[in-house]
Amino acid sequence: MREAGSSGIGTKVAVVIAAAGSGRRMGAGENKVLLPLDGKPMLQHSIECFAAMDEVSEIVVVTRSEDLEAVRSLAAGIVARRPVQVVTGGETRQESVFLGLKALPGDTDWVIIHDGARPFITAELVRRGLAAVRRHLAVGLAVPVKDTIKRVREGRVVDTPPRAELWAVQTPQLFSYQLILRAHEQARQKGLQATDDCALVEALGEPVHIVPGEYANIKVTTPEDLPPPEDSLVGFGFDVHRLVPGRPLVLGGVEIPFELGLLGHSDADVLTHAVMDALLGAMGEGDIGEHFPDTDPSYAGISSLLLLERVMGLVRERSLTVGNVDAVIVAQRPKLTPWKAAIRGKLAQALGTAERQVNIKASTSEGLGFTGRGEGIAVQAVVSLRRRRG
Ligand code: MG
Repeated sequence: MREAGSSGIGTKVAVVIAAAGSGRRMGAGENKVLLPLDGKPMLQHSIECFAAMDEVSEIVVVTRSEDLEAVRSLAAGIVARRPVQVVTGGETRQESVFLGLKALPGDTDWVIIHDGARPFITAELVRRGLAAVRRHLAVGLAVPVKDTIKRVREGRVVDTPPRAELWAVQTPQLFSYQLILRAHEQARQKGLQATDDCALVEALGEPVHIVPGEYANIKVTTPEDLPPPEDSLVGFGFDVHRLVPGRPLVLGGVEIPFELGLLGHSDADVLTHAVMDALLGAMGEGDIGEHFPDTDPSYAGISSLLLLERVMGLVRERSLTVGNVDAVIVAQRPKLTPWKAAIRGKLAQALGTAERQVNIKASTSEGLGFTGRGEGIAVQAVVSLRRRRG
C-alpha cells in the first residue's frame, strides 16, 4: 500500500455505488433508486455527495442493464472532477458490488461501498468513515439498535440477543481495496452470500470496526420510508400608494424616472411593501403596519429594501427559504416593461433566491378606477416559503 497523502488518507479513494436493486418492495416496476426525492432521482443525491468530495478520485455506479442508459444520462449531468463510470450489475447485490470493484483501477487504495437507496448520506458521514478506515482497513457505519431484537424460527422466539451489543449496519462501508477484493473473491470460491460487504471481510477472519453513523441515513425500502415533503407556506400581499409630484418612484428598490412619485412615510415602494406583507402573511406574522408603524420617525424616508431585510431576518430565524414570488403591478403609467428585469434582480437578491424564482408582471386597469386615472399604483403579490430540511 502506498503512503498516506497529506490529506491524512491514503491517496486513491474510489466509490462503488450499488444501484441495481429492483425495489419490488417500493411497489414500482421502476428501479427505486430512480424514483424522485426532493425533485431529483434518489440515486442522484448519493452521486452528488461523493462527486463534490475532494478526497474521492473515482466513482463507479453499478446498475441493471435496463437502467444503464438512464443512469448514464443522470451521471453525465452531474458536475464531478472525473466522469462517473456506470457499469452493469449482477443477479445479487454482492455480485453487483464485485463487478463494481473489478471496474476500479488496480492502484486504488481505499474503496467506499454505498447503497444508492441511502440518499441522505453526507460528506461529513463519509469523512468519519475515511478517518477510521486508514487505521482499521475495514469499517462499517452503524447505529445502536433501538428495538429489542428477537431471533425467531417458525414463529417461535429462540433467542433475545442483548440489545446493548446490537448495531444496525448502514453504508457507506469502507475498506482497503486489496482486502475487500480478497474477501469478495473468497466468497465467490466458497459460495458465500451476505447482505453486506463487512460480513465478507468477517468471513476472512479479518477484523471489522464500527464507526457511529446517523439515524437519518436511512435505506429507502418502502414508500413509507421517504420523509414527508418539505413544509410549504403561502402568503398574499396587497398595497396601494398615491402618485404625487416631487417624489421619487421606487419599485422593488429600483428608482424609475417619472414625473410623479409615490407618497408615503418610507420611500413608499409599493411593490416591496406588498412582497413584505406576503412574507409576513406566510409566516402568520401579521402585516407591515404592525412591524414598522408609520408613526415611528425612524422609518421616515427609509429604503423599503432595508425593511425587507428585517423581514428576511424573521424568515431565516424560522429556517425558511423563499420558494418563489409572483407580483403584479397595476399602473396606467409609466410603462414598466423596460424596468422589470432590474426589479427582478434587485428583489431576488434581497430575498436570497434565484431571479427565475421572482416574477414581476405589469398591468394597467384599462383606464378604470384610481389606477386607471393615474392617481396611484397598486400591487398584489404572492410568495411561497419552504422549510429547510434538517
Ligand atoms: Mg405601503
